[in-house]
Amino acid sequence: MIEDKNQDRTTLDKLGEFGLIEHLTQHFSLQHKSSEKGIGDDAAVLDFKNKKTLVTTDLLVEGVHFDLSYMPLKHLGYKAVMVNLSDVYAMNATATHITVSIAVSNRFPLEALDELYEGIAFACTKHKVDLIGGDTTSSTTGLLISVTALGEANSANITYRTGAKPNDLLVVSGDLGGAYMGLQVLEREKEVFKVNPNSQPDLEPYSYIVERQLKPEARNDISGLLKVLGVSPTSMIDISDGLSSEILHLCKQSEVGCNLFEEKIPLDPTVISACEEFKIDSTMVALSGGEDYELLFTVDQKDFEKIKGNPNLSIIGHMTDASEGAHLITRGNTKIPITAQGWNSFKSE
Ligand code: ADP
Ligand code: MG
Repeated sequence: MIEDKNQDRTTLDKLGEFGLIEHLTQHFSLQHKSSEKGIGDDAAVLDFKNKKTLVTTDLLVEGVHFDLSYMPLKHLGYKAVMVNLSDVYAMNATATHITVSIAVSNRFPLEALDELYEGIAFACTKHKVDLIGGDTTSSTTGLLISVTALGEANSANITYRTGAKPNDLLVVSGDLGGAYMGLQVLEREKEVFKVNPNSQPDLEPYSYIVERQLKPEARNDISGLLKVLGVSPTSMIDISDGLSSEILHLCKQSEVGCNLFEEKIPLDPTVISACEEFKIDSTMVALSGGEDYELLFTVDQKDFEKIKGNPNLSIIGHMTDASEGAHLITRGNTKIPITAQGWNSFKSE
């Protein structure tokens, strides 16, 4: 649907590898003082002075992580950057640089890669990161895109998964489940489109959740917000795989347990109505859906008043002694062990 617009198509072999790299990267400029050398030599050169450097990387594979029949390439470029920046923000750090590597088959015209790089450029501008390199190669199958993000932080501010203590409050930014429900809507429309290629889906009622899936926004605001509130998170992780899996990571790595309260899980009204329509339990979607790219963190109980009522943050539970395990306390006040398994195995509990 997306890649095959009948516009001008410039085949990649017309440019060659170096021409392509030059073309794709020509409009990127360097903003950070720490970027001594970006694209154009055998390696980039960075100088983080007295700050700690953070590095994280993610690989996205067509057919596994994205489906180009409903993922516009511009959004894919944006999302590929966001999933990496989210990992930097989850360390309570500032993102500064990215590298982007692509493997691409010649079924893509240059114009398609231009769209991909438009999304990457938009992400760089919005999140103030410099593109400083990458690699470009051909692929015989689908599109692969690998992004590496770098960031900086003062040593004292870096927040690991390991610092949660019993009685700490468990806090999440934003709301959950939207990206998963957006995917359900897109998958459904794809099936409809297969049967009737002339159908025009009306995605307007689902715009929030579809956008959560196609154009997630990494939370670069939370670190600053916590600073303003005078709160130092004790542990932190980003929500890429679903709330339950991330809670278990915090519990395991901090050697604590957790009580999560079902009624406290933040859900957008659009998520609730989509769950009703698809006959899926909204709590399960928040627990197992994933791809929300919100931040999950713990704070000392004394910070309750500072966090309470903040529209960006929800207190959803508290940590306990490790021996108590990790549990969901349902609206009906039953205690269910949290498992990191997929949807179906969780449902059969
Ligand atoms: P090398 O031969 O050392 O792999 P390349 O010719 O692949 O170098 O790359 C030349 C320059 O362009 C390097 O600075 C590299 O980091 C950068 N580069 C290559 N591909 C990309 C890409 N897809 N996005 C951004 N920069 C890239
Ligand atoms: Mg190379």
